[in-house]
Amino acid sequence: MGVSGLPAARALHGLGAEVTVVNEGADERARAQAAELTALGITVRLGDATTLPEGTELVVTAPGWRPDKPLFLAAAEAEVPVWGDVELAWRLRRPGAAPWLAVTGTNGKTTTVRMLASILRAAGLRTEAVGNIGVSLLDAVLGDEEYDVLAVELSSYQLHWAPSLRVHSAAVLNLAPDHLDWHGSMAAYAADKGRVYEGNTVACVYNAADPATEELVRAADVEEGCRAIGFTLGTPGPSQLGVVDGILVDRAFVADRQKQAQELAEIGDVNPPAPHNIANALAAAALARAYGVAPAAVRDGLRAFRPDPHRIEKVADVAGVAYVDDSKATNTHATEASLAAYDPIVWIAGGLAKGASFDDLVGGAAKRLRAVVLIGAERALIAEALARHAPEVPVVDLDRTDTGAMSAAVREAARLARPGDTVLLAPACASMDMFANYNKRGEAFADAVRELAAESG
Ligand code: ADP
Repeated sequence: MGVSGLPAARALHGLGAEVTVVNEGADERARAQAAELTALGITVRLGDATTLPEGTELVVTAPGWRPDKPLFLAAAEAEVPVWGDVELAWRLRRPGAAPWLAVTGTNGKTTTVRMLASILRAAGLRTEAVGNIGVSLLDAVLGDEEYDVLAVELSSYQLHWAPSLRVHSAAVLNLAPDHLDWHGSMAAYAADKGRVYEGNTVACVYNAADPATEELVRAADVEEGCRAIGFTLGTPGPSQLGVVDGILVDRAFVADRQKQAQELAEIGDVNPPAPHNIANALAAAALARAYGVAPAAVRDGLRAFRPDPHRIEKVADVAGVAYVDDSKATNTHATEASLAAYDPIVWIAGGLAKGASFDDLVGGAAKRLRAVVLIGAERALIAEALARHAPEVPVVDLDRTDTGAMSAAVREAARLARPGDTVLLAPACASMDMFANYNKRGEAFADAVRELAAESG
């Protein structure tokens, strides 16, 4: 009965299916939701989500449920198919419905999908960024609004449960270990991400700097004529998009890709112009170009794009120091990207490590670190990695996990920073030890920076 379950139950019920909702919890909220569903004529079973209700012909699951749950084993035994919310939306599309341009990857999905929607809009197309953000897929597919094309964010969980999905074109931005407890192994995680390429009709977009993504293209069974398109921060080869002298160029969707390159935009049109974000922009541009969007719309769409809060968001300049909020950097792969974007950095990090190791991250960034301020429950893991790989970098260990610690961390960072430096909140950890979520963590940082600015200004 979560965010995907309730709309799925209502949609199926509306189509005349006999729906039973099963839910593990039976707390007050669940009972209130159950009462609403029951009033509609939907059967609800609270507290027992292990067995298959009698007569079940189809299971529609919330994407987050692990595949090894007893309910799924029972479904497999009974040869009952299991669909996720994405599969359901895909199957319920009306004839002639808008094609999907899909984006997956470990990091950068939301940003890329929103850049893509911005480009499509600049081209005059009716579109929406859908998936984990804003409009849900089911609403987009079943609602009254008409679309020409959809920019769809897909997680590895959703792809796992979407066996018949066949999109127009798709991009896998990058692949780093994440959610391995759910998928069971890196190979299984990669295979689920790779499903996004299955049956693509026009383009499979991969990251030339991440060979694992190209591998997935090779392994996919695509439609005749579908092309593999790479993106790179360097000079593009034929059938790639890349960067030449500060210009984003297309050597894939041009008449003669051996000799021709089409200018799309300038690096300064990408907001913010950090390297990983330019990669996101190239991926979005590749999907838009695969759909036939003109170069000028790519530029206009990128210029119009505003990043979501807490994703490399500049909060303020105080005394010549830039304060940047990347609270959304909740894993080491994301943090590596944002540490690569600034120099020198006073880095604020720490929180819940989710089993990650920080050695590579810290080793790679050591030269750019002016100092580090650590907060949160598992900060010792980062402190130990710093001691091993960056022993000369000053570290302030705040030894605090209370919500007010962020204000103290910003003050410490301000003390350590020199004009020209960037104070970067990129925790490489989840936030739940100190905050309700990464939004709250980012807001606490921004509040503390504003306080600092008010005092100094
Ligand atoms: P997702 O939807 O995949 O979680 P977001 O666009 O919300 O991705 O970005 C999450 C974080 O990942 C950002 O705050 C940034 O630190 C980092 N990030 C964004 N794009 C990339 C990328 N292409 N490679 C690595 N890290 C990235």
